[in-house]
Amino acid sequence: MTPGVRPFVAGNWKMHGLSASLAEIEAMRRAADAGEAGEAELAVCPPATLLAQAAAKLSGSRLALGAQDCSPEASGAFTGDISAAMLKDAGAAYVIVGHSERRTIHHETDELVRAKAEAALKAGLIPIVCVGETQAERKAGQQAAVVIRQLRGSLPAGGTSETVVIAYEPVWAIGTGVTPTPQDVAVVHNGIRALVEEVGGARAAKTRLLYGGSVKPNNCRELLTLDNVDGALVGGASLKAADFLAIAAAYA
Ligand code: PEP
Repeated sequence: MTPGVRPFVAGNWKMHGLSASLAEIEAMRRAADAGEAGEAELAVCPPATLLAQAAAKLSGSRLALGAQDCSPEASGAFTGDISAAMLKDAGAAYVIVGHSERRTIHHETDELVRAKAEAALKAGLIPIVCVGETQAERKAGQQAAVVIRQLRGSLPAGGTSETVVIAYEPVWAIGTGVTPTPQDVAVVHNGIRALVEEVGGARAAKTRLLYGGSVKPNNCRELLTLDNVDGALVGGASLKAADFLAIAAAYA
């Protein structure tokens, strides 16, 4: 954790969830608002189809709403795409950009991720900018270099500690149940902290750095209480309120 920084735990539902799943968001909300979910800021990022319904359920709650991905464009002839302003209008406060599934499956480049993050900022959303090395890059010992390169290319111009969140997610740890050691996470997060201080100066020095990749109730404490780890981006374990809340409790 970084002194003076409020931790942040966000759930990424990916392409999971129908209206019936809103019951999980309601359970998260009840615990968050009853003060039973620790000290961290909390957000859940369901698919776009659930945003408006979830926003209605979260009105006045300390559980915030996030979206997954946005167009770099403000509006226009882009069938199937959703602009950052539309996500904001539907009730989102955050948007995940540059997730490895987008980078891999949709061939998104750092340049595109940066454009999306800048579109998010323009619309008043906080982008959660994701970076992380593949297994081959890790085996070659290139993790820190890859992550720093991705961040130099993906971070939006003009971002500050309050307006941008960074998530370090080793690709090989996502959805696999395998995690880096706490020491490995610490090395990369320390490198990211040095980078944000270098490129953003004092205004970005306290940017929240999340770890993501197979965070579960049984491993969250050792991963989330390291220096320069200010929270988690949680995939699979965020689909169930009980697991998500157990992870948030790392910051009890
Ligand atoms: C993710 O998709 O951002 C993620 C970290 O997934 P999981 O927690 O399931 O590994």
